[in-house]
Amino acid sequence: MSNNRDILVDNHGRRINYLRLAVTDRCNLRCFYCMPEEGIKYVDRTDLMSYEEMLRLLKVLAAVGVNKVRITGGEPFVRKGLEDFITRLNAVEGITDIRLTTNGTVSQKLISDFRRMGIKGVNLSLDSLDRERFFNITRRDLLPQVLDSLEALNQSEIPVKINTVVMAGRNTRDVIPLAELARTQADEVRFIEEMPFNGSEGLPNPENWDHIRILQELKEHFPDMQRQPMNFGDTAVRYSVPGFKGKLGIIAAYSRTFCGSCNRIRLTPTGTVKTCLYDSGVFNIRDLMREGATDKQIETAVREAVGNRARNGHEAEKNRFSNGSIQESMSTIGG
Ligand code: SAM
Ligand code: SF4
Repeated sequence: MSNNRDILVDNHGRRINYLRLAVTDRCNLRCFYCMPEEGIKYVDRTDLMSYEEMLRLLKVLAAVGVNKVRITGGEPFVRKGLEDFITRLNAVEGITDIRLTTNGTVSQKLISDFRRMGIKGVNLSLDSLDRERFFNITRRDLLPQVLDSLEALNQSEIPVKINTVVMAGRNTRDVIPLAELARTQADEVRFIEEMPFNGSEGLPNPENWDHIRILQELKEHFPDMQRQPMNFGDTAVRYSVPGFKGKLGIIAAYSRTFCGSCNRIRLTPTGTVKTCLYDSGVFNIRDLMREGATDKQIETAVREAVGNRARNGHEAEKNRFSNGSIQESMSTIGG
Protein backbone atom coordinates (compact mmCIF):
# COMPACT_ATOMS: atom_id res chain seq x y z
CA MET A 1 0.00 0.00 0.00
CA SER A 2 1.13 3.57 -0.60
CA ASN A 3 1.94 6.20 1.96
CA ASN A 4 1.75 9.93 1.32
CA ARG A 5 5.42 10.18 0.35
CA ASP A 6 4.96 7.63 -2.45
CA ILE A 7 1.79 8.79 -4.13
CA LEU A 8 1.83 9.78 -7.76
CA VAL A 9 1.42 13.53 -8.27
CA ASP A 10 1.98 15.33 -11.56
CA ASN A 11 3.95 18.51 -12.22
CA HIS A 12 0.76 20.56 -11.82
CA GLY A 13 -0.06 19.14 -8.38
CA ARG A 14 -2.77 16.75 -9.61
CA ARG A 15 -2.84 13.42 -7.81
CA ILE A 16 -3.04 10.42 -10.16
CA ASN A 17 -5.07 7.52 -8.76
CA TYR A 18 -6.77 6.18 -11.88
CA LEU A 19 -5.59 4.05 -14.83
CA ARG A 20 -7.64 3.56 -17.96
CA LEU A 21 -6.52 0.24 -19.37
CA ALA A 22 -7.29 -0.57 -23.01
CA VAL A 23 -6.90 -4.35 -23.17
CA THR A 24 -7.42 -4.72 -26.94
CA ASP A 25 -7.73 -2.60 -30.07
CA ARG A 26 -10.17 -5.10 -31.63
CA CYS A 27 -13.88 -4.51 -31.82
CA ASN A 28 -16.99 -6.09 -33.29
CA LEU A 29 -18.62 -2.71 -34.02
CA ARG A 30 -17.50 0.01 -36.41
CA CYS A 31 -18.79 3.21 -34.80
CA PHE A 32 -18.05 5.79 -37.46
CA TYR A 33 -16.58 8.29 -34.96
CA CYS A 34 -14.12 5.65 -33.76
CA MET A 35 -13.12 3.47 -36.72
CA PRO A 36 -13.38 3.51 -40.51
CA GLU A 37 -15.86 1.05 -42.06
CA GLU A 38 -13.10 -1.36 -43.10
CA GLY A 39 -11.73 -1.32 -39.52
CA ILE A 40 -8.21 -0.43 -38.50
CA LYS A 41 -5.06 -2.49 -38.88
CA TYR A 42 -5.16 -4.50 -35.66
CA VAL A 43 -1.89 -5.06 -33.86
CA ASP A 44 -0.33 -8.48 -33.78
CA ARG A 45 -1.36 -10.41 -30.67
CA THR A 46 2.26 -10.78 -29.56
CA ASP A 47 2.53 -6.99 -29.47
CA LEU A 48 -0.30 -6.71 -26.94
CA MET A 49 0.54 -6.29 -23.27
CA SER A 50 -0.01 -9.71 -21.77
CA TYR A 51 -2.32 -10.07 -18.77
CA GLU A 52 0.74 -10.91 -16.66
CA GLU A 53 2.43 -7.67 -17.76
CA MET A 54 -0.71 -5.68 -16.99
CA LEU A 55 -1.01 -7.24 -13.53
CA ARG A 56 2.62 -6.47 -12.83
CA LEU A 57 2.12 -2.85 -13.83
CA LEU A 58 -1.00 -2.58 -11.69
CA LYS A 59 0.89 -3.87 -8.64
CA VAL A 60 3.54 -1.19 -9.19
CA LEU A 61 0.88 1.50 -9.64
CA ALA A 62 -1.19 0.36 -6.66
CA ALA A 63 1.91 0.82 -4.48
CA VAL A 64 1.98 4.52 -5.49
CA GLY A 65 -1.71 5.11 -4.82
CA VAL A 66 -3.53 4.08 -7.99
CA ASN A 67 -6.71 2.41 -6.74
CA LYS A 68 -9.09 2.78 -9.68
CA VAL A 69 -8.89 0.92 -13.02
CA ARG A 70 -11.24 1.17 -15.96
CA ILE A 71 -11.04 -1.70 -18.43
CA THR A 72 -11.77 -0.56 -21.94
CA GLY A 73 -10.62 -1.13 -25.52
CA GLY A 74 -11.58 -1.77 -28.35
CA GLU A 75 -14.31 -3.99 -27.04
CA PRO A 76 -12.79 -5.51 -23.90
CA PHE A 77 -14.83 -8.71 -24.14
CA VAL A 78 -13.45 -9.69 -27.53
CA ARG A 79 -10.14 -10.43 -25.77
CA LYS A 80 -10.03 -14.00 -24.50
CA GLY A 81 -9.46 -14.61 -20.81
CA LEU A 82 -10.76 -11.22 -19.66
CA GLU A 83 -12.94 -12.62 -16.87
CA ASP A 84 -10.01 -14.40 -15.28
CA PHE A 85 -7.84 -11.29 -15.65
CA ILE A 86 -10.43 -9.10 -13.90
CA THR A 87 -10.76 -11.61 -11.06
CA ARG A 88 -6.99 -11.56 -10.58
CA LEU A 89 -6.88 -7.78 -10.81
CA ASN A 90 -9.49 -7.62 -8.08
CA ALA A 91 -7.08 -9.51 -5.82
CA VAL A 92 -4.28 -6.93 -6.24
CA GLU A 93 -3.78 -5.15 -2.93
CA GLY A 94 -4.76 -1.50 -3.21
CA ILE A 95 -6.96 -1.87 -6.32
CA THR A 96 -10.39 -1.10 -4.89
CA ASP A 97 -12.40 0.24 -7.81
CA ILE A 98 -12.60 -1.77 -11.05
CA ARG A 99 -14.93 -0.48 -13.73
CA LEU A 100 -15.61 -1.37 -17.31
CA THR A 101 -16.56 0.45 -20.52
CA THR A 102 -18.30 -1.77 -23.06
CA ASN A 103 -20.53 -1.61 -26.09
CA GLY A 104 -22.70 -4.29 -24.43
CA THR A 105 -23.04 -6.49 -27.51
CA VAL A 106 -20.98 -9.54 -26.54
CA SER A 107 -20.99 -9.80 -22.75
CA GLN A 108 -24.71 -10.25 -21.91
CA LYS A 109 -24.23 -13.76 -20.55
CA LEU A 110 -21.36 -12.76 -18.28
CA ILE A 111 -23.12 -9.89 -16.53
CA SER A 112 -24.51 -12.03 -13.73
CA ASP A 113 -20.86 -12.79 -12.81
CA PHE A 114 -19.69 -9.16 -12.79
CA ARG A 115 -20.18 -8.65 -9.04
CA ARG A 116 -18.25 -11.79 -8.21
CA MET A 117 -15.45 -10.60 -10.50
CA GLY A 118 -15.27 -7.36 -8.51
CA ILE A 119 -16.67 -4.98 -11.12
CA LYS A 120 -18.07 -1.92 -9.34
CA GLY A 121 -19.77 -0.24 -12.26
CA VAL A 122 -20.23 -0.34 -16.02
CA ASN A 123 -20.31 2.39 -18.64
CA LEU A 124 -22.47 1.18 -21.49
CA SER A 125 -22.08 2.97 -24.80
CA LEU A 126 -25.36 3.67 -26.54
CA ASP A 127 -25.92 6.42 -29.08
CA SER A 128 -29.49 5.73 -30.20
CA LEU A 129 -32.60 3.81 -29.16
CA ASP A 130 -33.69 3.65 -32.79
CA ARG A 131 -32.52 0.48 -34.51
CA GLU A 132 -31.85 2.12 -37.86
CA ARG A 133 -29.95 5.07 -36.42
CA PHE A 134 -28.01 2.68 -34.16
CA PHE A 135 -27.06 0.72 -37.28
CA ASN A 136 -26.08 3.88 -39.17
CA ILE A 137 -23.76 4.92 -36.35
CA THR A 138 -22.22 1.54 -35.42
CA ARG A 139 -22.55 -0.17 -38.85
CA ARG A 140 -23.89 -3.23 -37.03
CA ASP A 141 -27.50 -4.24 -36.25
CA LEU A 142 -26.97 -5.03 -32.57
CA LEU A 143 -29.22 -2.65 -30.62
CA PRO A 144 -31.31 -5.49 -29.07
CA GLN A 145 -28.15 -7.01 -27.58
CA VAL A 146 -27.20 -3.69 -25.96
CA LEU A 147 -30.68 -3.34 -24.47
CA ASP A 148 -30.43 -6.91 -23.13
CA SER A 149 -27.18 -5.92 -21.44
CA LEU A 150 -28.80 -2.87 -19.88
CA GLU A 151 -31.56 -5.05 -18.48
CA ALA A 152 -29.08 -7.63 -17.18
CA LEU A 153 -27.02 -4.89 -15.50
CA ASN A 154 -30.15 -3.57 -13.81
CA GLN A 155 -31.11 -7.06 -12.69
CA SER A 156 -27.65 -7.63 -11.22
CA GLU A 157 -27.82 -4.20 -9.56
CA ILE A 158 -24.54 -3.13 -11.15
CA PRO A 159 -24.36 0.68 -11.30
CA VAL A 160 -24.66 1.67 -14.95
CA LYS A 161 -23.79 4.84 -16.80
CA ILE A 162 -24.85 5.29 -20.40
CA ASN A 163 -22.25 6.99 -22.66
CA THR A 164 -23.73 8.80 -25.65
CA VAL A 165 -21.64 10.68 -28.20
CA VAL A 166 -23.82 13.50 -29.56
CA MET A 167 -23.44 14.17 -33.28
CA ALA A 168 -25.21 16.67 -35.49
CA GLY A 169 -27.23 14.98 -38.23
CA ARG A 170 -26.89 11.56 -36.57
CA ASN A 171 -28.52 11.27 -33.18
CA THR A 172 -29.52 14.63 -31.76
CA ARG A 173 -33.16 13.52 -31.72
CA ASP A 174 -32.08 10.65 -29.45
CA VAL A 175 -30.81 12.95 -26.71
CA ILE A 176 -34.11 13.22 -24.87
CA PRO A 177 -35.21 9.55 -25.23
CA LEU A 178 -31.77 8.49 -23.97
CA ALA A 179 -31.92 11.00 -21.11
CA GLU A 180 -35.21 9.35 -20.11
CA LEU A 181 -33.24 6.16 -19.29
CA ALA A 182 -32.04 7.99 -16.16
CA ARG A 183 -35.60 7.96 -14.87
CA THR A 184 -35.40 4.30 -13.79
CA GLN A 185 -32.76 2.33 -15.73
CA ALA A 186 -29.47 4.20 -15.46
CA ASP A 187 -27.52 5.83 -12.66
CA GLU A 188 -26.29 8.40 -15.12
CA VAL A 189 -26.76 9.21 -18.80
CA ARG A 190 -23.77 11.15 -20.06
CA PHE A 191 -23.69 13.11 -23.29
CA ILE A 192 -20.20 13.40 -24.75
CA GLU A 193 -18.81 15.81 -27.33
CA GLU A 194 -17.38 14.02 -30.36
CA MET A 195 -13.58 13.97 -30.43
CA PRO A 196 -11.19 13.68 -33.38
CA PHE A 197 -10.21 10.01 -32.92
CA ASN A 198 -11.96 8.22 -35.78
CA GLY A 199 -8.92 6.38 -37.11
CA SER A 200 -8.63 8.46 -40.27
CA GLU A 201 -8.46 12.17 -40.94
CA GLY A 202 -9.48 12.92 -37.41
CA LEU A 203 -11.66 15.99 -37.70
CA PRO A 204 -14.98 15.79 -35.88
CA ASN A 205 -18.08 17.08 -37.57
CA PRO A 206 -17.66 20.88 -37.64
CA GLU A 207 -21.36 21.34 -36.98
CA ASN A 208 -20.98 19.17 -33.94
CA TRP A 209 -23.00 19.81 -30.87
CA ASP A 210 -20.80 21.13 -28.08
CA HIS A 211 -21.51 21.00 -24.34
CA ILE A 212 -23.37 24.31 -24.44
CA ARG A 213 -25.74 23.12 -27.17
CA ILE A 214 -26.31 19.82 -25.36
CA LEU A 215 -27.15 21.65 -22.12
CA GLN A 216 -29.60 23.88 -23.98
CA GLU A 217 -31.38 20.83 -25.40
CA LEU A 218 -31.64 19.17 -21.98
CA LYS A 219 -32.82 22.34 -20.27
CA GLU A 220 -35.60 22.83 -22.81
CA HIS A 221 -37.01 19.44 -21.84
CA PHE A 222 -36.07 19.33 -18.17
CA PRO A 223 -36.38 22.97 -17.03
CA ASP A 224 -36.10 21.98 -13.34
CA MET A 225 -32.77 20.21 -13.71
CA GLN A 226 -30.22 21.24 -11.06
CA ARG A 227 -26.45 21.35 -11.49
CA GLN A 228 -24.60 19.20 -8.94
CA PRO A 229 -21.26 20.02 -7.28
CA MET A 230 -18.22 18.49 -9.03
CA ASN A 231 -15.56 16.34 -7.35
CA PHE A 232 -11.83 16.15 -8.16
CA GLY A 233 -11.40 13.90 -11.19
CA ASP A 234 -14.92 14.35 -12.54
CA THR A 235 -15.22 14.84 -16.28
CA ALA A 236 -19.01 15.09 -16.39
CA VAL A 237 -20.96 18.11 -15.19
CA ARG A 238 -23.98 16.44 -13.56
CA TYR A 239 -27.58 17.50 -13.22
CA SER A 240 -30.37 16.04 -11.15
CA VAL A 241 -33.88 15.95 -12.57
CA PRO A 242 -36.90 15.76 -10.24
CA GLY A 243 -38.37 12.23 -10.29
CA PHE A 244 -35.27 10.66 -11.88
CA LYS A 245 -33.25 7.96 -10.11
CA GLY A 246 -30.15 8.81 -12.15
CA LYS A 247 -28.33 12.00 -13.12
CA LEU A 248 -27.76 13.56 -16.51
CA GLY A 249 -24.15 14.37 -17.34
CA ILE A 250 -22.39 16.42 -20.00
CA ILE A 251 -18.76 15.70 -20.89
CA ALA A 252 -16.96 18.49 -22.74
CA ALA A 253 -14.46 16.05 -24.15
CA TYR A 254 -13.53 18.20 -27.16
CA SER A 255 -13.82 21.59 -25.43
CA ARG A 256 -11.73 20.15 -22.58
CA THR A 257 -13.11 22.13 -19.67
CA PHE A 258 -12.19 19.60 -16.94
CA CYS A 259 -8.41 19.16 -17.31
CA GLY A 260 -7.64 21.10 -14.09
CA SER A 261 -8.64 18.12 -11.95
CA CYS A 262 -7.47 15.29 -14.21
CA ASN A 263 -6.52 12.28 -12.06
CA ARG A 264 -5.90 9.64 -14.74
CA ILE A 265 -3.35 8.13 -17.07
CA ARG A 266 -3.96 5.71 -19.92
CA LEU A 267 -2.35 2.54 -21.19
CA THR A 268 -2.87 1.47 -24.80
CA PRO A 269 -3.15 -2.24 -25.72
CA THR A 270 0.51 -2.23 -26.83
CA GLY A 271 1.77 -0.66 -23.63
CA THR A 272 2.09 3.01 -24.54
CA VAL A 273 1.49 5.27 -21.57
CA LYS A 274 -0.53 8.39 -22.31
CA THR A 275 -0.65 11.09 -19.67
CA CYS A 276 -3.38 12.85 -21.66
CA LEU A 277 -5.98 11.54 -24.08
CA TYR A 278 -4.74 14.10 -26.61
CA ASP A 279 -1.00 13.36 -26.37
CA SER A 280 0.69 10.94 -28.75
CA GLY A 281 2.07 8.68 -26.03
CA VAL A 282 5.00 9.37 -23.75
CA PHE A 283 6.78 6.03 -23.38
CA ASN A 284 6.23 2.30 -23.82
CA ILE A 285 5.99 0.23 -20.68
CA ARG A 286 5.78 -3.14 -22.48
CA ASP A 287 9.17 -2.52 -24.11
CA LEU A 288 10.64 -1.52 -20.78
CA MET A 289 9.34 -4.70 -19.18
CA ARG A 290 10.52 -6.91 -22.03
CA GLU A 291 13.99 -5.32 -21.79
CA GLY A 292 14.13 -6.58 -18.19
CA ALA A 293 13.29 -3.45 -16.16
CA THR A 294 12.83 -3.87 -12.42
CA ASP A 295 9.66 -2.74 -10.66
CA LYS A 296 11.57 0.26 -9.31
CA GLN A 297 12.64 1.24 -12.85
CA ILE A 298 9.04 0.95 -14.03
CA GLU A 299 7.85 3.15 -11.17
CA THR A 300 10.57 5.71 -11.96
CA ALA A 301 9.57 5.81 -15.64
CA VAL A 302 5.93 6.39 -14.70
CA ARG A 303 6.92 9.12 -12.24
CA GLU A 304 9.00 10.85 -14.92
CA ALA A 305 6.13 10.74 -17.41
CA VAL A 306 3.66 12.06 -14.87
CA GLY A 307 6.19 14.73 -13.85
CA ASN A 308 6.25 16.10 -17.40
CA ARG A 309 2.57 16.24 -18.07
CA ALA A 310 0.89 18.82 -20.27
CA ARG A 311 -1.27 21.25 -18.30
CA ASN A 312 -4.34 20.39 -20.37
CA GLY A 313 -5.57 18.63 -23.48
CA HIS A 314 -5.02 21.65 -25.72
CA GLU A 315 -1.34 21.83 -24.74
CA ALA A 316 -0.98 18.03 -25.15
CA GLU A 317 -2.48 18.20 -28.65
CA LYS A 318 -0.13 21.03 -29.67
CA ASN A 319 2.86 18.97 -28.50
CA ARG A 320 1.98 15.83 -30.46
CA PHE A 321 4.89 14.52 -32.53
CA SER A 322 2.62 14.30 -35.57
CA ASN A 323 2.46 18.12 -35.70
CA GLY A 324 -0.89 18.18 -34.00
CA SER A 325 -2.68 15.99 -36.56
CA ILE A 326 -4.63 13.09 -35.04
CA GLN A 327 -5.07 9.83 -36.93
CA GLU A 328 -5.59 7.42 -34.07
CA SER A 329 -8.72 5.39 -33.55
CA MET A 330 -10.32 5.67 -30.13
CA SER A 331 -10.27 1.88 -30.05
CA THR A 332 -6.49 2.05 -29.55
CA ILE A 333 -6.86 4.54 -26.70
CA GLY A 334 -9.96 3.39 -24.84
CA GLY A 335 -11.82 6.70 -24.56
N1 SAM B 1 -15.87 -0.57 -27.10
C1 SAM B 1 -16.20 -0.03 -25.83
C2 SAM B 1 -17.35 0.93 -25.92
O1 SAM B 1 -17.67 1.38 -27.01
O2 SAM B 1 -17.89 1.25 -24.87
C3 SAM B 1 -15.04 0.60 -25.10
C4 SAM B 1 -14.06 1.42 -25.92
S1 SAM B 1 -14.74 2.90 -26.61
C5 SAM B 1 -13.35 3.52 -27.50
C6 SAM B 1 -14.87 3.93 -25.17
C7 SAM B 1 -15.77 5.13 -25.30
O3 SAM B 1 -15.18 6.05 -26.22
C8 SAM B 1 -17.16 4.84 -25.83
O4 SAM B 1 -18.13 5.32 -24.92
C9 SAM B 1 -17.23 5.56 -27.13
O5 SAM B 1 -18.51 6.05 -27.41
C10 SAM B 1 -16.24 6.67 -26.92
N2 SAM B 1 -15.69 7.22 -28.16
C11 SAM B 1 -15.12 6.54 -29.17
N3 SAM B 1 -14.72 7.37 -30.16
C12 SAM B 1 -15.07 8.62 -29.76
C13 SAM B 1 -14.96 9.90 -30.36
N4 SAM B 1 -14.39 10.08 -31.55
N5 SAM B 1 -15.45 10.95 -29.67
C14 SAM B 1 -16.03 10.77 -28.45
N6 SAM B 1 -16.16 9.60 -27.84
C15 SAM B 1 -15.69 8.51 -28.48
FE1 SF4 C 1 -15.91 -0.43 -30.96
FE2 SF4 C 1 -16.29 1.11 -28.81
FE3 SF4 C 1 -15.01 2.04 -30.98
FE4 SF4 C 1 -17.60 1.57 -31.14
S1 SF4 C 1 -16.61 3.08 -29.79
S2 SF4 C 1 -16.05 0.94 -32.68
S3 SF4 C 1 -17.84 -0.14 -29.84
S4 SF4 C 1 -14.29 0.48 -29.65
